[in-house]
Amino acid sequence: MTPPNFDDRDGWIWMDGKLVPWRSAEVHVLTHALHYASAVFEGERCYNGKIFHLSMHSQRLIDSAAILGFSLPWTRDEIDAACNETVKANGFTDCYVRPIAWRGSEQMGVSAQRSKPRLAIAAWEWGAYFGEDVIERGLRLDIATWRRPAPYTAPTASKAAGLYMICTLSKHAAEDKGFNDALMFDWRGQVAEATGANIFFVKNGELHTPTPDCFLNGITRRTVMDLALRRGIAVTERVIWPEEMESFEGAFLTGSAAEVTPIASIGPWNFEVGAIGRQLRQDYADLARGRTINS
Ligand code: PMP
Repeated sequence: MTPPNFDDRDGWIWMDGKLVPWRSAEVHVLTHALHYASAVFEGERCYNGKIFHLSMHSQRLIDSAAILGFSLPWTRDEIDAACNETVKANGFTDCYVRPIAWRGSEQMGVSAQRSKPRLAIAAWEWGAYFGEDVIERGLRLDIATWRRPAPYTAPTASKAAGLYMICTLSKHAAEDKGFNDALMFDWRGQVAEATGANIFFVKNGELHTPTPDCFLNGITRRTVMDLALRRGIAVTERVIWPEEMESFEGAFLTGSAAEVTPIASIGPWNFEVGAIGRQLRQDYADLARGRTINS
């Protein structure tokens, strides 16, 4: 059965300071963000009624907007409270939370200095990002033909909607060929990230991950690095060239939506779904749910 469209559901969406009925959370077609991609967003997960790393997400939303040149008239605490209010109003304990901030309709054309910042927060129930079946088997990733842009060609430190244009194109191309997702290289040809998650590799019991100098330094990525260190697993952030994938034993993706998801193959390279990835997946699940991490 096809799930209902996202604009046709019951529930509540927080919009510019108050909860509105889900179907009324609309914007006008002459909205700057729709024409010129002046929008930034977050993706969060709520576990057992608590949004994991909520304040980090709210702060990143504020920072992402600032990078695009607009400042949100809500503080981090106010955004935190609005996210919590949205989850509660919809009666969820485990869900995905999507805050989005954008430039409104005051001005049309490239300039938007007079446009008003808007903010909406929605929440919905969303199971495993890639589905349950890949958790044991691992993801099959295509290699995207699009590359992450250089930091001098796009505001790459912002979680900006416009940066997802090449992600959607890459993901469609991958799915059309039967893959789960695509690995993107950066403009130099170095390994960067997937279309909505960061990447880690396993080699000789240690982790290697690309330096996030032109893509999102994910909150999950940083959390998993901490969890690895707690287990005494060394993590190296460095330049990774594609040819090196030949020598890696394992690989996994990290993201708020994707959590920790093992990878079985990337283009011609195959990986084992190994113990380190499994352990970190479990540790992340425990930490996110406020459970103690078994040693
Ligand atoms: N890269 C991209 C392109 C993403 O969309 C995401 C998901 N927000 C990530 C990385 C991972 O970020 P985080 O762990 O903060 O969710």
